[in-house]
Amino acid sequence: MHEWSLALSLVQTLDRWALEHGVEIKRVVLSVPSPAQLDVSVLNEAFDALKRESRLERAKLEVKVRSPRYRCRACGYEFGQEEVDPQIRRIAGEYGEEYPLHLIPELLPTFVKCPKCGSHDIEAELSIKIEEVETT
Ligand SMILES: [Zn+2]
Repeated sequence: MHEWSLALSLVQTLDRWALEHGVEIKRVVLSVPSPAQLDVSVLNEAFDALKRESRLERAKLEVKVRSPRYRCRACGYEFGQEEVDPQIRRIAGEYGEEYPLHLIPELLPTFVKCPKCGSHDIEAELSIKIEEVETT
């Protein structure tokens, strides 16, 4: 579901942009943080279905999964996904398959603890970004 709504807003946004600029889109590179847990094949399938009759009709979607960075607002310590994964595994163990971070990646910072000082005041860069657009 998440993949389809993402593909829809992607196609709508880029189609409008391409129309304004009088171009057609050939390639889109999307950067996705790994906790977003997107199913890339579903995203591609949704993109291919939704791009018909738009200025993205011949566009190819590439998805890059990046490892996000976290920063503790309390002590300023910066850390990567490798220090967050064990914490997420623990939460996943408590909630089972449908643990909340899978459903709402935006909630992730509230579940993560600073490995240095233990604060929950963590900021994370979890946005899905369009990294590159190639036009005709
Ligand atoms: Zn800290």
